[in-house]
Amino acid sequence: MLEFPKSDRTVRVRMVDTTTLMTVWSQVLIQPVQPGHEILNLTDVAFLIENEASGQQVMFDLGSRKDYWNLPAVVRQHFDESMASVRVDKDVTEVLSESGISLSDIGSVVWSHYHWDHIGNMALFPSSTSLVIGPGFKEQPGLLPGYPDAINSPVPKDAFSGREVIEPDFANGLTIGGFRAHDFFGDGSFYLLDTPGHCVGHLCGLARTTEDTFLLLGGDICHFAGVVRPNTSLPFPAQIPTEALDKDPVFPIPCPCSLFTSCHPIATVDQDKTPFYQVSSYEATAFTDPELSQRSVNKLLEFENSPDVLICIAHDCDLPQYLPTLNESPSSDLNAWKENGWKEKLRWGWVNELPRAGRPGRKPLVEGYWRDGKVWAEAIETLHRR
Ligand SMILES: [Zn+2]
Ligand SMILES: [Zn+2]
Repeated sequence: MLEFPKSDRTVRVRMVDTTTLMTVWSQVLIQPVQPGHEILNLTDVAFLIENEASGQQVMFDLGSRKDYWNLPAVVRQHFDESMASVRVDKDVTEVLSESGISLSDIGSVVWSHYHWDHIGNMALFPSSTSLVIGPGFKEQPGLLPGYPDAINSPVPKDAFSGREVIEPDFANGLTIGGFRAHDFFGDGSFYLLDTPGHCVGHLCGLARTTEDTFLLLGGDICHFAGVVRPNTSLPFPAQIPTEALDKDPVFPIPCPCSLFTSCHPIATVDQDKTPFYQVSSYEATAFTDPELSQRSVNKLLEFENSPDVLICIAHDCDLPQYLPTLNESPSSDLNAWKENGWKEKLRWGWVNELPRAGRPGRKPLVEGYWRDGKVWAEAIETLHRR
């Protein structure tokens, strides 16, 4: 049984659509890959956290930098292996400014982890904004001082230049749901969770939205909602509610008995209660330690099973589709998620991504490499040589 520390302090949470669209080879992120689901659609959200008592503001993740072709060389080399298409229209700093948020008011940026699609362009923030990274980051060989001084570092040096870089203490004995926890503001309103496996220093955020409800900001603990659904608390219903399904004239509405019972890729028993996918342990996996990652996901299931927690993994395409974003509605926050029934609303949207009778589910969100709002014609040939 999941138990949370008590507090009456909350944070206001607003979601930022980082305007990043990607299609990624599924084998990098999930298993077993299903025929017709070889490519995974990914959007990318970040979160603006505001301590309601003190007014302190923090960003949890930043999405991708708009000029992704300027990423460190080692990251660009990986594009070929992992990514089919990418488009980034805005830096998160633009979205914040357009929404009336001053960058100098952002006291800290927390990176769920150091991958390029979460760290944005830190150099655009003033030096007064500190950077918070997860346990083990500073000691990990090859990361600091950053590219190009560390020529194989996936993180640019200018992310750290002139600013405080903080690795919080997780050794004080506090745990939540089996994860080591750090009380970020010291008042119980926002915790960082040590969620290992994807890469060194991976963090989730646990934001208290009312006295007894929480948003779990998942980063890349997993990349697809079908890695935590269905589950013992939320089994597949006999019929997926039609309002959760795309109205697609080409493909028939998927039938749960064919999609999820006879064709469940993992389970032979309790198929309606077993998550559809696991994290990838293929050779091409993006998880540094797939076994440890799956153990973290298994702990995450306890949070998913709780009616008091809504899980928001960074790349869940349903989040920007169904929930208010800072981009569209700067004054709307996510705090009343339970009252609004958003956990139920988001529950089955991911089935639209699944293949139907061996044919792809949803179409790719983006095709080609984009730059300045259009396909960058020379991208595929030259991106990796720059
Ligand atoms: Zn990642
Ligand atoms: Zn990611």
